[in-house]
Amino acid sequence: MKLVRFGEIGREKPGLVDDNGDIRDLSSMVADIAGEALGAQSLERLSRIDPATLPLAPSGQRIGSCVGRVGNFVAIGLNYADHAAETGAPIPAEPIVFNKAPSCIVGAHDDVIIPRGSQKTDWEVELAIVIGERASYVGANEAMDFVAGYCICNDVSEREYQLERGGTWTKGKGCPTFGPLGPWLVTKDEISDPHDLGMWLDVNGTRMQTGSTKTMIFNLSQIVSYVSHFMILEPGDVITTGTPPGVGMGMKPPRYLKSGDVIDLGIDGLGVQRQRVVAFEEHPIDTSRPGHGRHA
Ligand code: ZN
Repeated sequence: MKLVRFGEIGREKPGLVDDNGDIRDLSSMVADIAGEALGAQSLERLSRIDPATLPLAPSGQRIGSCVGRVGNFVAIGLNYADHAAETGAPIPAEPIVFNKAPSCIVGAHDDVIIPRGSQKTDWEVELAIVIGERASYVGANEAMDFVAGYCICNDVSEREYQLERGGTWTKGKGCPTFGPLGPWLVTKDEISDPHDLGMWLDVNGTRMQTGSTKTMIFNLSQIVSYVSHFMILEPGDVITTGTPPGVGMGMKPPRYLKSGDVIDLGIDGLGVQRQRVVAFEEHPIDTSRPGHGRHA
């Protein structure tokens, strides 16, 4: 199944994508694509629905983040051998784990806002895991039983905040709109081998990143198992699993995002994202508005 959330920011409805690519409204079956709705029993129940019996969503709807109410938004750093090489970093002996603020999550086609004063906003196409069952101290051999599915994440990153301001990477990873997720949550049964998926990212139509999940250092089972030894993972949590080569920081000279840029990215079987890049001044964060750039 391809599950989606559609509608205005903060008021998304659950849906599924039918064989024609149309969105069907799942509101009568499930409250949201979030939390317990992502458990194995719930997904099994949804998979038995004939999409033709569900109402079509109105056309032209905004697509929200494909998972709502994300609690933990965890990321793995330097998890592609070829990307580690481009940054000059050694291959990590254990997964590098950092947090992205859940409040940075937005829809796959929402604007990416360059933070106020930022000079080094960068892109990263990644495969993200969506957790379906509560996971604590799980072994790698059973870890995939705790996974609901996958989606694309653009792990948008501010390199000065991440690397030059002291402290941890978290500073450069959770700014508002730095976590587009979707367009779909693709259940794991639809992807025969998640470790053989092509992935790419363009800026203004020029290919920047080309890679494959084949070159991951730690595989998805290892990642879920590893993270579950440091925190309890809950249904609806998201782990984004690292990026292949071709980020702006790795170019000579480095190339960072500027207002007016358009980012297109995709992973085999998981769809495509497109974001317009805007300056903070053009698109100030409306913190008075619940849901603006938050769990959207
Ligand atoms: Zn990343």
